[in-house]
Amino acid sequence: MSELPIAYARIRKAASDLIAGQDAPPLALEPILATLGVELRRIDVADDISGILIRSAERNVVVVNAKHSEVRQRFTIAHEIAHLMLHEGEEVHVDSAFRVNLRDPRSGTAENIEEVEANAFAANLLMPAEWIRKALVGTWIDVNDDSEVARLADVFAVSPQAMLIRLTNLLRR
Ligand SMILES: [Zn+2]
Repeated sequence: MSELPIAYARIRKAASDLIAGQDAPPLALEPILATLGVELRRIDVADDISGILIRSAERNVVVVNAKHSEVRQRFTIAHEIAHLMLHEGEEVHVDSAFRVNLRDPRSGTAENIEEVEANAFAANLLMPAEWIRKALVGTWIDVNDDSEVARLADVFAVSPQAMLIRLTNLLRR
């Protein structure tokens, strides 16, 4: 199996560049979208579609599924920003719920790698390691305690699942 490397250093840098100017959770996505000149549209699309990135010379548009919860929409928006920042892509990129949750590129296709990279970027953008560390100063979090993870997830306006994955990744390092 040929494994393509995930560009984690580049991902961290790109995310932290966008965060500059903000210093506490929850991350505000609107100013970032404005800086990038991205128009956000919340639309009722099919349930299994999380987001769509439409690139054009005039304007880039991110469509997010209006039926999904706010925290899920935020992750999807960050995921689509990642594709815009990191990946040369087709004019229209449609992300299913599966793609926005893909963690491991079990089949190391370039496409799967890009999805994993987009999720890593979204996690770095919405849950910067530095902010997590600050939030946990003087305290300890039990990742097996759902209510503790959920409380921290609320502070960052992410889903408990996204926070759990992020904490697990940060602790593993
Ligand atoms: Zn994607």
